[in-house]
Amino acid sequence: MGRNVGPSCRFCRREGAKLFLKGTRCISKCSFDKRGYSPGQHGQRRTKLSDYGLQLREKQKVKRIYGLFEQQFRLYFKRASRAKGVTGEVLLQLLERRIDNVVYRLCFGSSRNRTRQLVRHGYIEVNNKKVNIPSYTVSKGDIIKIKAKEDTLKRIKEDVELSKDKSVPKWLKVNYENLQGEVLDLPQREDVGFPIKEQLIVELYSK
Ligand code: SF4
Repeated sequence: MGRNVGPSCRFCRREGAKLFLKGTRCISKCSFDKRGYSPGQHGQRRTKLSDYGLQLREKQKVKRIYGLFEQQFRLYFKRASRAKGVTGEVLLQLLERRIDNVVYRLCFGSSRNRTRQLVRHGYIEVNNKKVNIPSYTVSKGDIIKIKAKEDTLKRIKEDVELSKDKSVPKWLKVNYENLQGEVLDLPQREDVGFPIKEQLIVELYSK
């Protein structure tokens, strides 16, 4: 019987890229390395995608990286299209500024799923105030701290040990001694650190 790789790995296979949805497992035991083709009976067939197909796949990829539902993603796009600047870049900037992503980028958790749980369980403070909404948008100068009881803190520190070898983007500063981070600046396009063709998403939603 085949090994159950779980839906997260299917997302990577569907999008044809490693999306790093499972934390340390993505580095040590990634199923995409062995089966980097689409899931399903006809997954190994090569199919040429239409323009619409390419746009749709790019949107799905970004949605999955940040762990969003369609409705949430559309709201981000609306916000980005109303803001000043290049819509695709503003969209990525807004997604990067989500608190669950920032906690992940600070390496306080091995995956965005994990850091979303930290936020939801009330272990994250921004400027000394508890924030338990994963979509909370951070601003320049915000101080992010982890506040938890001793046993939970121990578990979080273990997770930090596994994750902290990843580089922290330059718009953030981290102190692992006291589990504190700071937003030094707003993220720029090059800080996303993942190959994304955001223009395809703009074209998809502009139809
Ligand atoms: Fe699964 Fe992570 Fe590999 Fe994606 S990158 S296939 S989520 S193990």
